[in-house]
Amino acid sequence: MSSLLVDNIGELVTNGAGEGPLGIRRDAAVLVEEGRVAWVGPSAYAPAADRRLDAGGAAVLPGFVDSHAHLVFAGDRATEFAARMAGQPYTGGGIRTTVGATRAATDNELRATVRRLRGEALRQGTTTMEIKSGYGLTVADEARSLRIAAESSTETTFLGAHVVPAEYADRPDDYVSLVCGPMLGAATPYAKWVDVFCERGAFDVDHARAILACGQAAGLGVRIHANQLGPGAGVRLGVELDAASVDHCTHLGDADVDALAGTAHSDGSGTRTVATLLPGAEFSTRSPYPDARRLLDAGVTVALATDCNPGSSYTSSMPFCVALAVREMRMTPAEAVWAATAGGARALRRDDIGVLTPGARADLVVLDAPSYLHLAYRPGVPLIRQVMRNGVTP
Ligand SMILES: [Zn+2]
Repeated sequence: MSSLLVDNIGELVTNGAGEGPLGIRRDAAVLVEEGRVAWVGPSAYAPAADRRLDAGGAAVLPGFVDSHAHLVFAGDRATEFAARMAGQPYTGGGIRTTVGATRAATDNELRATVRRLRGEALRQGTTTMEIKSGYGLTVADEARSLRIAAESSTETTFLGAHVVPAEYADRPDDYVSLVCGPMLGAATPYAKWVDVFCERGAFDVDHARAILACGQAAGLGVRIHANQLGPGAGVRLGVELDAASVDHCTHLGDADVDALAGTAHSDGSGTRTVATLLPGAEFSTRSPYPDARRLLDAGVTVALATDCNPGSSYTSSMPFCVALAVREMRMTPAEAVWAATAGGARALRRDDIGVLTPGARADLVVLDAPSYLHLAYRPGVPLIRQVMRNGVTP
């Protein structure tokens, strides 16, 4: 059994036992055995190991958990972005542009895009990345999107209900039947989760409930795009269906916040349904940011994710999202780093990632900085010195 000791860590973020909400330990070391964290403690008392990685006094934190990304697509929408920056509003309608390009692409073209973006994210410290379908919107194209996604992640999400495709524009009920029937059947072997874009112009709450309930009956976990472009019942629907996460949460009323807070675990460890905030989308659509403080103050567990997609948020960078959350959503650096690691893990109902405690997967990031604070303090700077997944450098 080969072991690795990462020692001389100036500041270790464990998200477990330690100082403050991030469970910080100073002058620490982490012993890795068989891809798992075997021991965490003071560097001076570290056990012997076969190999050693000297962190040189730098900060080490769990790899980022990006719980919301759309990587299976073709083409880009840079001109749409430019038009938006020149004053045109975002409506979500551009998704159909990407659907056309995705349907026309070969498997290998889609695969190359997923791998390129997954690699890009990994170099920025993302060790777990959820990947959604949703640009195929036919039985065959959704199935192949998920098959290709599953080559790069175990956290795959069926989003056949992204928008109603043009050929079903005047008969959305028929499209919902297709999604709940043959499309779900073809998607299920490759998917862990089901998701719906519940929004005006996409799927209303009754259609969303029907699709999520079908997915749940087929054994998939529930997540939902909700309350992004305006107020609505999506967040409450997510709570009703025990969603792992309600994503976006840009336009919330008191009833939405109360519903999320009502899913709190009795042991004070946060809420069962996580609010996943995607500030890259507000940045790229020049929209008001979600009110993170209101959620945090109500005791709601918050995650941060990229929403990486070619239309509304073409970033794969979790450090960028951390910086946005701190600067634009008034999260503290500690809250933002927790939300980008442990929070993302909660949003995927995982307890083996997003933490560096004994038994967890040895997914970690060595920063080119003495503290996690630098992720927000030095935005746009490549601070990820080394990434390790399952105890090895990918
Ligand atoms: Zn999304």
